[in-house]
Amino acid sequence: MIKITLPDGSVREYASGVTPHNVALSISEGLARNVISANFNGTTVETTTPLTTDGSLTLYTWNDAEGKKAFWHSTSHVMAQALQEMYPGIKLTIGPAIENGFYYDVDFGENKISENDFKAIEDRILAISKEKHEFKMRSATKAEALELYKDNEYKTELIQNLEDGTISFCDHATFTDLCRGGHIPNTGIIKAVKILSVAGAYWRGDEKNKQLTRVYGISFPKQKDLTEYLEMIEEAKRRDHRKLGKELELFHFSQRVGQGLPLWLPKGAALRDRLEQFLRKAQKKAGYEQVVTPHIGQKELYVTSGHYAKYGADSFQPIHTPAEGEEFLLKPMNCPHHCEIYNAKPWSYKDLPKRYAEFGTVYRYEQSGELHGLTRVRGFTQDDAHIFCTPDQLDEEFKKVIDLVLYVFGSLGFENFTAQVSVRDLNNPDKYIGNVENWEKAENAIISAAKDKGLNYVVESGEAAFYGPKLDFMVKDALGRSWQLGTIQVDYNLPERFDLTYKGSDDKLHRPVMIHRAPFGSMERFIAILLEHTGGHFPLWLMPEQVIILSLSEKYEKYAKKVLDLLENHEIRAKLDDRNETIGKKIREAELQKYPFMLIIGEDEENNATVSVRKQGESGKSNTSMKIEEFVSLIEEEVSKTIKQF
Ligand SMILES: [Zn+2]
Ligand SMILES: [Zn+2]
Repeated sequence: MIKITLPDGSVREYASGVTPHNVALSISEGLARNVISANFNGTTVETTTPLTTDGSLTLYTWNDAEGKKAFWHSTSHVMAQALQEMYPGIKLTIGPAIENGFYYDVDFGENKISENDFKAIEDRILAISKEKHEFKMRSATKAEALELYKDNEYKTELIQNLEDGTISFCDHATFTDLCRGGHIPNTGIIKAVKILSVAGAYWRGDEKNKQLTRVYGISFPKQKDLTEYLEMIEEAKRRDHRKLGKELELFHFSQRVGQGLPLWLPKGAALRDRLEQFLRKAQKKAGYEQVVTPHIGQKELYVTSGHYAKYGADSFQPIHTPAEGEEFLLKPMNCPHHCEIYNAKPWSYKDLPKRYAEFGTVYRYEQSGELHGLTRVRGFTQDDAHIFCTPDQLDEEFKKVIDLVLYVFGSLGFENFTAQVSVRDLNNPDKYIGNVENWEKAENAIISAAKDKGLNYVVESGEAAFYGPKLDFMVKDALGRSWQLGTIQVDYNLPERFDLTYKGSDDKLHRPVMIHRAPFGSMERFIAILLEHTGGHFPLWLMPEQVIILSLSEKYEKYAKKVLDLLENHEIRAKLDDRNETIGKKIREAELQKYPFMLIIGEDEENNATVSVRKQGESGKSNTSMKIEEFVSLIEEEVSKTIKQF
């Protein structure tokens, strides 16, 4: 008999040779039907793999990321089979599962593949799938493997790098592929598939190698899931921040200024400013002090901080001055500057914590192929802050930072998030700097803060940086995509490198602990995420322009201006569209510009001192007529609903 431990901690006994499928069956038939992959003692196994030792078993269904991975990886085998049948003589290389779907890199030789072929490939995959072929793993010798792929130089290269005894094949139907395993039980559960795109990809990602064709696809256990996925993709295209940024006139990229260097247009700058003011205000209440540091620093500064050794060669190169030997670097991080601010005078434990905040612009070199809208740029502004505290204050400080991050998420409509606490790998103590006692203190402080604040969190061993544990938030946007936002990082390294000290109650010098935190991350990336999350319909408090006044004709311009003044007196951000255009056209444009409120002004409105209110997206409804004062209260109420005081 062997003992199997399940994720809930329960231990069950089975005869040796039991399969994950059998274990699932012993729990419930429903589970057995849905289990598509498994993990035994940290290794992915098939649901049909016989288990012969004691160990921990996790069973995966489609609802688990690992289940999806097995599903998509298995489908890539089926796609490879379909492609090989349809395009004889092609050479298959690798075909992994990715975050959304799978791909296969193929040397199509003389064959050409285009979008017009996708439907036929999908049909062939589904036809094979319907036949319910089982995926069966078998091990092979290196010689056998090399023989099978003697005409395929790519697989041959892969096999040559493998050790004899570790090589295996996966068979299904008449198809065999070199594979490590991790499949669904049979092809029959693949009910829907879509070939998404083809793209060029160099063999092994090296541009010196031959360019292959990467075929991307995705598959699902239900047709409905595919339909929903495709709708989500369409919605994501509509919400693409690069598209919205252009339409809403928020930012612009100029080839003349340079790649990856965003230019903020007036409306975008106003949006940024509003976000900054919002955070500044909350930070002030939380005891932060604002500082300002230059955009460049001496190379020595980053040699001291360790950034130069780590990123120097792969980033912007030093700036030389006419003076001999002077070298400066564009600032890649604000932390070294803030350490020197701390070092500007001696501190006692009674002065701590010190919290320095800066909207600090930093520059990091990214290859041009890596640049993407506002999410990957070469110059960006972090909502950065560094907290210098005693080890005993860490607990309290961490909780305060979490409060601030949650306040930011709440005010911006991010309601769905989880947290990850990254701690040391206890089997690898040499990897980390700082003393063990402090690490324990910090890890416990983070975990207790996460618990205390009611976060939905997981603890990941071995994920901590060498210089300290951290907490990351994973935020889900309106389309269900995850973004990492609001990292809180403990650091024992920089205080050491910059020789930061404070005088303790024992009159001796001690090292403070440093916390890095940035709730937004960077203004650029955050605004990109916010645009895609809201589709440009920001919370009312944040909207660069909240109201647009549309006059029916020039006759009512005077009254329209009066309305504008009144709104402005109440600090409502409004704009008047008094162009000589039809009201229909003005409304359509205002809808596109995502104005939350449109006020239509005509004769009735002027005579009764009212406004006719039309809300964004409510084109079917009739407008509501109200007194201007009523409208002002309506806006004020709506604003207070979306933003609370910190
Ligand atoms: Zn496989
Ligand atoms: Zn930092």
